[in-house]
Amino acid sequence: MSAADPVLSLLRPEILALAPYSSARKESSGGRIWLDANENPLTPSAGKPLLNRYPEPQPAELIAQLAAYYAVAENNILVTRGSDEGIDLLLRAFCRAGQDAILITPPTYGMYAVSAAIQNARVVTVPLLAEKNFSLDPTAVLAAITPSVKLVFLCSPNNPTGALLARDEVVRLVQALLGKAIVVVDEAYLEFAGSPSLTRELAGNPNLVILRTLSKAFGLAGIRCGVTIAMTAEGLTAARRSGQSLIAERIRVAARLATLPCVRRLWPSDSNFILFEVTDSARVMSATRAVGVVLRDRSRDYGLTNCVRMTMGTPEENNAALEVIARV
Ligand code: PMP
Repeated sequence: MSAADPVLSLLRPEILALAPYSSARKESSGGRIWLDANENPLTPSAGKPLLNRYPEPQPAELIAQLAAYYAVAENNILVTRGSDEGIDLLLRAFCRAGQDAILITPPTYGMYAVSAAIQNARVVTVPLLAEKNFSLDPTAVLAAITPSVKLVFLCSPNNPTGALLARDEVVRLVQALLGKAIVVVDEAYLEFAGSPSLTRELAGNPNLVILRTLSKAFGLAGIRCGVTIAMTAEGLTAARRSGQSLIAERIRVAARLATLPCVRRLWPSDSNFILFEVTDSARVMSATRAVGVVLRDRSRDYGLTNCVRMTMGTPEENNAALEVIARV
C-alpha cells in the first residue's frame, strides 16, 4: 500500500515509517522451558493465568472469539486495554501534536477530548441537535472538516444522551470523508440498542473504525488488566447473557421515572443508562447520595442543564434509586 492510500495517507508519517517492537512472546510460541523473555520462573500465582509470564500481545483465542461475536475477520481486530486505550491509540497514530485535530459532537463521551489534550491535538466541536433529541448534524460536521481534522468521533448510542445516531447519516458521513478523515464510531453500548452494528459497513469503507468493549453488555469492566484476558477468552460465551435483562430494566425504569414529580424530561435510550432532566439536579444528587445511591450529574455538559444519568443496575438497585427520586 502506498501513502496515496486513503487511510495510510492520514497516518502520522513517523507511525507509517515505524518498525514495530518485536517482543519475545511474539517471536516464539509453544516450547516447554521459557528462557527468552527475562521473566521470573518463581511466582506467587498458582495455575492459570500465569502471572509471572508476559501475555500474548494479541491473544489468538480471545481474538477468534471476538471475531465470531462481532462477525468480522480476525485480522480486523486489535485488542486494547478497554476502548479508552483504542481512543488513545487512534489519537497518537493519526494526530501530529500541535498540528492536527479531532472532531467531536457534544454532549458526548469525555475521553475523546482528554486523549486529544494529551496528544496536543485541537478539538473541533459540532454540537448534536438538542432540539432533535441530540441527533447528528451531518451538514455542520462536513462544513467543519479542514485538512487538519484527522479523526471524527461519533458515539452511538451516545453517552450521556443515550440514543443511537441515525445509521444512514453516519454511513453517508463516512463515505463523504474517505481520504479526508477517519470516522470512529464508538459502539460501547450497542448491545443495548437492538440494532445492528456498523461493522456491516466495514467492507466498503476503509476509513470507518468501530470501537466495542466488554465493559458494558458483558459486565466485564474490570478486566482491563491483561492477565484476565485469557480468562475472558474462556468465559466469553457465558458472559454474553446480561444484556437482555438490562434492556427490560431500562424500559421499566424509564416508564416509572416519567411519572415522578421532579422529572421534567426523559431522553429515549438505546443503551444501559437513561438521561433525564429534573427540576433541580443538585437536590436529586444529594437525596440519592444520602441513601448511598450514586447517580451521575451531567448538568455541566453541553445542553444538559439539570440532567442526571442513571445506569441500569439490578431491579432492587433501580428501585432504591426510584424510591428516593420519587420523594424529591
Ligand atoms: N466509550 C464510551 C462511549 C463509554 O461510555 C466508555 C466508558 N464509560 C468507554 C468508551 C470506555 O470503555 P472501556 O471500559 O472499554 O475503556
